[in-house]
Amino acid sequence: MSMTHHFDYTLQNAQGGTCIAQAWAKVEPPLPASEKYRIQQSIKQALAAKNAVLIAHYYVDGDIQDLAIETGGCVADSLEMARFGRDHRADNLIVAGVRFMGETAKILSPEKRIFMPDLEATCSLDLGCPAEAFSAFCDSHPDRTVVVYANTSAAVKARADWMVTSACALAIVSHLKDQGKKILWAPDRHLGRYIQDQTGADMIMWNGDCIVHNEFKGEELSMLKRLHPGAQVLVHPESPESVVAHADLVGSTSALLNAVIHGDATQYIVATDKGLFHRMQQLAPSKQIIEAPTAGESATCKSCAHCPWMAMNSLNGLLHCLENQTGEILVPASIREQAYRCIDRMLSFSRQTGAGTAHGLVPNLGAA
Ligand code: SF4
Repeated sequence: MSMTHHFDYTLQNAQGGTCIAQAWAKVEPPLPASEKYRIQQSIKQALAAKNAVLIAHYYVDGDIQDLAIETGGCVADSLEMARFGRDHRADNLIVAGVRFMGETAKILSPEKRIFMPDLEATCSLDLGCPAEAFSAFCDSHPDRTVVVYANTSAAVKARADWMVTSACALAIVSHLKDQGKKILWAPDRHLGRYIQDQTGADMIMWNGDCIVHNEFKGEELSMLKRLHPGAQVLVHPESPESVVAHADLVGSTSALLNAVIHGDATQYIVATDKGLFHRMQQLAPSKQIIEAPTAGESATCKSCAHCPWMAMNSLNGLLHCLENQTGEILVPASIREQAYRCIDRMLSFSRQTGAGTAHGLVPNLGAA
């Protein structure tokens, strides 16, 4: 194996600005049809030859999502991606998504090898919550139960008592509140505020956000609703409070997808990464999906409602990591074992209570 990448969390750029520009600069331009077809065929052959399965997130390019389904892999939220990988017989998991998803897959499947097309594909929530600073924050609040969102590094999870997804966060925080626990929440402040509003729990927050969801705008959404009075408004809870206020449904990635598939409305205004629209249109072709409005050209994510790090996943990148075994995710055993505990606690809780389950799954690891 060559080019394995060891991450130093403390050296990551917590500002995110440069990283976003670098991410967009690395996004592959559209390929000519014949070239795309050739690469897709090569990926299919390489998956079979290497005993590998492709596991893709809802936010990556539609061609990669289609390839995952065609080759017997899956398209899902990040927890289901990790669970699918854990239960699949393949020795090698090719994860198309962002870095914390590869790490979660490795934590749940330490005996397997996990590869990603580009290890620099990360997440503003992960970048904005470096392990050392987070650990100091926890140390200064020793009386609080530490609850972290899935969109964090393995090292941050190793410091936590619980990991939650946006699908089971309400149930777990309510459970902890009933036990008289005070909570330290990280890293998404919008999701944390939403959970605090819903549960009344005593929570202090890390000040992180998702650069994609943070750009949705409440006032513009209200204007768009007036143009489409029959539309249902679906909002991911990583969005600001002013956007959540207009929602008919607030939910995880999978919950939003299910709402479109099973809902009675014909139009849906959706506030989440538009990569999800590919699957929505495939599974509910008669429904009209309308992008919720973002901020304009000056916004940090270019107001495109699309994650630059998710966009870094390319067909060429997939083929390269398959053929050359580059981009391997490695998590030190000590961190992996500690991080496993907070994930396992969530999985056990969800199994016992049914919290966050839909069709037998915990539907979402977050915005991601
Ligand atoms: S869309 Fe997902 S992966 Fe991208 S920055 Fe937001 S939470 Fe992170």
